[in-house]
Amino acid sequence: MNILSNYINGEWQKSTATENLEVINPATAELLAKVPLSPKSEVNQAAEAAAEAFKSWRRTPATQRVQFLFILKYLLEENLEDIARTITFECGKTLAESRGEMRRAIENVEIACGIPMMMQGSNLEDIAKGIDEIMIRQPLGVCAAICPFNFPGMIPFWFLPYALACGNTYIVKPSEKVPLTMQKIFTLLEQTGLPKGVVNLVNGTKETVDAILEHPQIKAVSFVGSTPVAKYIYSWGAANGKRMQAQGGAKNPIVILPDADMEMTTRIAADSAFGCAGQRCLAASIAITVGEAKDSFSEAIAQAANKRIVGNGLDDNVQMGAVINAGSKARIEGLIEKAASSGAKLLVDGRNPNIPGYEQGCFIRPTILQDVNPLSETANTEIFGPVLSLMHVNDIDEAISLVNNSLFGNMACLFTTSGAAARKFRYEAEAGNIGINIGVAAPMAFFPFSGWKQSFFGDLHGQGNHAVEFFTQTKVVVERWKDEWSRKF
Ligand code: NAD
Repeated sequence: MNILSNYINGEWQKSTATENLEVINPATAELLAKVPLSPKSEVNQAAEAAAEAFKSWRRTPATQRVQFLFILKYLLEENLEDIARTITFECGKTLAESRGEMRRAIENVEIACGIPMMMQGSNLEDIAKGIDEIMIRQPLGVCAAICPFNFPGMIPFWFLPYALACGNTYIVKPSEKVPLTMQKIFTLLEQTGLPKGVVNLVNGTKETVDAILEHPQIKAVSFVGSTPVAKYIYSWGAANGKRMQAQGGAKNPIVILPDADMEMTTRIAADSAFGCAGQRCLAASIAITVGEAKDSFSEAIAQAANKRIVGNGLDDNVQMGAVINAGSKARIEGLIEKAASSGAKLLVDGRNPNIPGYEQGCFIRPTILQDVNPLSETANTEIFGPVLSLMHVNDIDEAISLVNNSLFGNMACLFTTSGAAARKFRYEAEAGNIGINIGVAAPMAFFPFSGWKQSFFGDLHGQGNHAVEFFTQTKVVVERWKDEWSRKF
């Protein structure tokens, strides 16, 4: 069985780990590889290599640094199909979803290629007579990303291209559940000809993560994952003096007004709730119908859920793949059971489906819970599976208060044909990513991925200008040059 390697200082290295975890295809239960739980000493090696590489990488002009990203974009385009298949193999989502994920990854590389413009500072002549002030941006040093399972190809790219373009060196710690995608991507990073030590890959779990959070040469850490781990990582990294950004879990509401285009709304809501088997941090998890929207939406979304084709993400007609593993399937089905036994009605029950040919797979069909109490555990727990909870209110103000009572603030969406209602929602909803007639309000690479509340810990988000600010530190220079000194020449 293939035990995956780390990539440290420009070389693939077998880990000295004494423990490995199995990487399993969630659709077939096939064992794909084993991933090492790399010890602290291997994080130290990666950090030292990256610190050494930083000395010359930061002196490489920005215009030259981005040449490696241009090559990377080309290599990612050329290998997109192969990487997408790997994502589907280890993560379970459909091939179309995996391709879409990689398009989003590439978009971040494209935007980071604009760093010679984006990284510019500012200045003002004569802040006092004969004195000028300049603000420049300098890279931080070694930075690292700790990533979740649900977007193994895209999420590291919310950070890595910007970090490198700004002159930092980098370490990626992929999710131990889906480490194969980064193995492929690192073979492409290797082919770009980046100097050794500029990018490093270390596999593992808690011990590896803690070594990253505690290493004195690592200056900044980006995390994406569940809220409890985000809180821990944010606080422990900060306690160790690092610049931190930590994106956490979600429980995203969508609000449906009676004037919404019901056919379009249903299609978009179903894609949001059941796409990627509900394992998107921007998946709709609660649908709040207002007034007369209740009956028409409930009926239409139940039909859409029943019709969805579930199976192996590699098969052509499949619209929804497996959830990540057996533990996750059992957890999601347990939460459905709990909801049903505490008063919610099971409008569509997707538990334990029969998927011919994939009896060992981790499948749950789309599930819809009706009349979910906003104060219940179901309404307030991130399920991270293909489960949509329906709630009903009488007007938009009540709907917005339900949205704002949530502990999370990753996304909130409104479906309406009223501009005034849309403006009110955009203005008042307490979430960082807002969709109006959109079901997955994922910011493009040139906007920050703006989670709020328990969905984000930090100040600067991933992507775009926020990433440039996160990966640089400002230096202000105040200069006095007397006129009389130039008269010598
Ligand atoms: P997770 O929190 O279990 O793991 C994320 C990473 O943290 C992994 O690399 C893992 O090895 C590491 N980790 C786990 N437990 C740890 C611990 N105790 N100490 C140190 N490191 C630890 O998350 P997951 O299950 O891989 O991903 C799903 C979660 O990610 C969901 O909650 C989802 O909402 C969230 N997510 C959020 C966003 C966002 O933008 N806000 C995006 C994608 C996923």
